[in-house]
Amino acid sequence: MSKNESDAKVQTIFGKEKNPSSIEPKKLTLDSPLKFRCHPGVRCFTACCGGIKIILTPYDILQLTRRLAIPAHEFLHTYSLPTYLEKTDMPGVMIKLREEDNKCPFVTPEGCTVYTDRPTACRYYPVGMADFHEGGSRDADGEEVKTAEEKFFFTVREDHCKGFEEDKEWTIREWRADQGVDVRDEMNKEWLRLVMRRKSYGLQATLSEQAKRMFFMASTDIATFRKFVFESTFLDTYELDQETIDKIREDDVELMLFSFKYLAATLFGAQTLNIKEEKIKAKVAQIKERQDETVMQSIKEYEELKAQTAAQKVGTGVLKK
Ligand code: SF4
Ligand code: SF4
Repeated sequence: MSKNESDAKVQTIFGKEKNPSSIEPKKLTLDSPLKFRCHPGVRCFTACCGGIKIILTPYDILQLTRRLAIPAHEFLHTYSLPTYLEKTDMPGVMIKLREEDNKCPFVTPEGCTVYTDRPTACRYYPVGMADFHEGGSRDADGEEVKTAEEKFFFTVREDHCKGFEEDKEWTIREWRADQGVDVRDEMNKEWLRLVMRRKSYGLQATLSEQAKRMFFMASTDIATFRKFVFESTFLDTYELDQETIDKIREDDVELMLFSFKYLAATLFGAQTLNIKEEKIKAKVAQIKERQDETVMQSIKEYEELKAQTAAQKVGTGVLKK
């Protein structure tokens, strides 16, 4: 892959920009300087909160539903639109912009009404993160192998954004910490990995409709996923220690992180969750029983066919002396 091709593989899922040409062609590290400040006094205040596609991660949805004190299904219905993630067939959601002005439903002239719980994409802007891992090497479990050098940062400089004219200087690391990006990255990491893994497999590899529905449910509605775990045969099927059960029962964030492990195991066969041995044995016995039945059926059919053929030969005199 040429360097230019690699550079083009930027991780845009959290990119708020809609025009890739506004990406500055300069690789930045965590220690690179950034001259930028965004505050209510800038001329462009809230200019970036319209005409954009903001993908929501499971953690974004969890935080926003808590903030708005509404269930996920109501949030999804009111504030989101379905979309596909990273040009894959993985279903996700993005913020539904207001029909009247094509702006985010949470923006007012005074600013963002959910600021402390704003989505990951809003926190990233105008510093994007790029990743070389697509098509990279994998370990024995099929997990992507990454090195620190595979990540870098870049700025998105759009004409309307006047924050670059401000005097404040910091490093990319300081900016990200200030915006709470690091925490979001940690929360989104495994989920994003699922999406990028799907992307690296390409669309030739199929994902069942049921798997896609499960991915969507677990990614957007933690209350329904909770029911799935605690009100089905889930706990009888998977090996989970008591500490994990207690944690995911009490804490939605823990449950969300657990859902990523479940999805990795069921969608990609990752060794993140084990099925109980007795369940495996029962399944193997069931398959064997079906196989035995099939073999017996084949033998029976073969014997019948043989008898039929012999009878026909007798009838046509082939076997007559
Ligand atoms: S969530 Fe807040 S910061 Fe993000 S686009 Fe909407 S108003 Fe702007
Ligand atoms: S400075 Fe940039 S990020 Fe801040 S409000 Fe203006 S356009 Fe948005």
